[in-house]
Amino acid sequence: MSGRLDSRAPLLEVRDLVVHHGQLRALSGISLTVYPGEVYALIGANGAGKSTLLRTIAGLHHPTSGSIGYDGKDVTRLRPEKRATAGIVMVPEGRRLFPSLTLEENLKVGSSYARPGPWTIGRIYELFPWMLERRGQKTAQMSGGEQQSVAIGRALVANPRVLLLDELSLGLAPVIVQRIYATLPQILESGITVLLVEQDVSQALRVATHLQCLLEGHTTLEGTPAEVTREQVEAAYFGVGSAAPGGRPSHVSLNNRGPRDNHGERSEA
Ligand code: ATP
Repeated sequence: MSGRLDSRAPLLEVRDLVVHHGQLRALSGISLTVYPGEVYALIGANGAGKSTLLRTIAGLHHPTSGSIGYDGKDVTRLRPEKRATAGIVMVPEGRRLFPSLTLEENLKVGSSYARPGPWTIGRIYELFPWMLERRGQKTAQMSGGEQQSVAIGRALVANPRVLLLDELSLGLAPVIVQRIYATLPQILESGITVLLVEQDVSQALRVATHLQCLLEGHTTLEGTPAEVTREQVEAAYFGVGSAAPGGRPSHVSLNNRGPRDNHGERSEA
């Protein structure tokens, strides 16, 4: 284990997680440890299993084997809504807002299963000041970036301890992505730990305190952004080549799995 923040007890501990979608083995023994205050980024090409991992942690998929520990307790079999009220809250890929409800009504959905904590609807309007005067507008009429912000607000008002963010940048222009990620410091300052899935590797490297790369349901790289080289990340992401010359940092486990078909990054970003 790396020396990162490890004097503290982990907030999230995933051990040897195997998840199937029917016959397809989407995750083949994934482990990860997230400490309080971290921004832990999961990267990897399309179909690597990132969303499956996040959704399994949220309780939306049942693992075939393995365990999920949260705040020292085994939550592997806990129902999703119980995990949410315990503080594991997800912003799903595609936002999944209620389009016919107003912005504020969508936020109220999040607060309906809220833990006590600092995040209120009023505080969301401070985080995203544009929302205040548009709180009565239906979210169907909003842009992708605005909807993504509402989805983040809806998750925050539940007062999570660990916030699971699935592909925030998907389909959004880079300037909008930057604006959304600019709220991350305030989210972290409120004591929330973040586990995020990000296809944009540069973005992940900018914000993450720790990162893990998945490929076809396996971990191919794990370490802090300072520990890994660009070449190592590329090799782990595409499953080609090997670690960069000069040796790899001791905390980084490279597990490249040999040549395979190219996986391009998504084009709609
Ligand atoms: P993406 O960026 O494309 O979402 P990902 O890394 O998040 O990729 P997953 O969405 O977790 O990957 O998918 C992992 C594998 O599981 C893929 O082969 C995908 O086709 C498959 N898969 C995901 N969800 C389902 C499902 N509900 N039913 C069947 N197969 C699924």
